[in-house]
Amino acid sequence: MSKTTMSPITTDFTQTDHSGGRLTINLGALVQNWQTLAQLAAPGECAGVVKANAYGLGLEPVSRALWKAGCRTFFVALPQEAFELRTYLPEASIYCLGGLTPTGASDFAGHAIRPVLNTPDEVREWADHDGAHEAALHVDTGMTRLGLTLEDAANLAADADLMGRLNLTHVMSHLACADEPDHALNDVQIASFNKVRSLFPGLAASLANSAGTLQGARFRHDLARPGIALYGGQSVIPCPVDLRPVVTLEARIMQVREAKAGEAVGYGATKTLRRDSRIAILGIGYADGYHRLVGSHPDAHVMVNDQLAPLLGRVSMDLIAADITEPHFDGVRAGMFVDVINSQITVDRVAGWANTIGYEVLTGLGPRYARTYLGG
Ligand SMILES: *Cc1c(COP(=O)(O)O)cnc(C)c1O
Repeated sequence: MSKTTMSPITTDFTQTDHSGGRLTINLGALVQNWQTLAQLAAPGECAGVVKANAYGLGLEPVSRALWKAGCRTFFVALPQEAFELRTYLPEASIYCLGGLTPTGASDFAGHAIRPVLNTPDEVREWADHDGAHEAALHVDTGMTRLGLTLEDAANLAADADLMGRLNLTHVMSHLACADEPDHALNDVQIASFNKVRSLFPGLAASLANSAGTLQGARFRHDLARPGIALYGGQSVIPCPVDLRPVVTLEARIMQVREAKAGEAVGYGATKTLRRDSRIAILGIGYADGYHRLVGSHPDAHVMVNDQLAPLLGRVSMDLIAADITEPHFDGVRAGMFVDVINSQITVDRVAGWANTIGYEVLTGLGPRYARTYLGG
């Protein structure tokens, strides 16, 4: 991994020349973020969470770049993601957070995928299938989502026969409120998790997501599981370390047009122009994951030649409109690209305009963009 080898490779079938938007994913920045998090996690290990197509950024390029950087343990949500990841990383430890599917045990074992066992039934099924294969045990400590109850966990720990037929590597739990450091549930979960750990003294422990990894030693154990922070998304404010943005999104100007004061822009005619205006029509919309709610936010904008251009009217399926009336936009023409997400218009900023979170903006990045990967 060296910064000097940043040559762009277009890996998507969607050619830049034919797309309404181009997405640039900086794998060098992703790797730097992983290294930063790995330093925080040390002496524990730092995994990579690559579920949902690596948070929308591409499972294959992202996981290969992380592997090359030294990441050896990966988490996905679903078996289909695990099996795909296995084709890219034959030697990685791959955990499937969603656990076993009803008929899945032999496929898991066959591809050396480690299920995260979430229920007593899954625990028994895995033990009955073939005790030699690794798995992690997930205990719910207060999120009320997947995982064994504390009582289930205590029963399992006391069952020497069952434990003897399992090859558990980790006991883990998941934090509900790590992005809010002062939330009372954090202490409750940490205390419960410490109890759970004492039930399984031989197992490595894993609790921290991105926010937990960034926040301090009390959340960190033997294995950190960051996702969003790898991809340049925000998980805690303020962030104690420098994490780099990974995604740049640009939209093509399809048309530049003039309109008179009093005319309306877009569906529903929600935006009436107060002055004679010049408008750039851009080739991305909600079908590309550019959230429709963004259009209702008064601060929403794109950047043209480093200048802010406010959005006008609603977000359409394939198009948005931006105000380029100001004289510093003279010379802006159809065919040029404008910045929709960059180091100033962050993923979290766009998310805020749409009343959502950076995770949803990233995982929503659509399949029509021409994708270019830098570095890695
Ligand atoms: C998604 C997920 C993570 C990663 O969370 P981030 O907030 O993206 O860091 C870690 N652990 C579990 C169980 C998850 O579902």
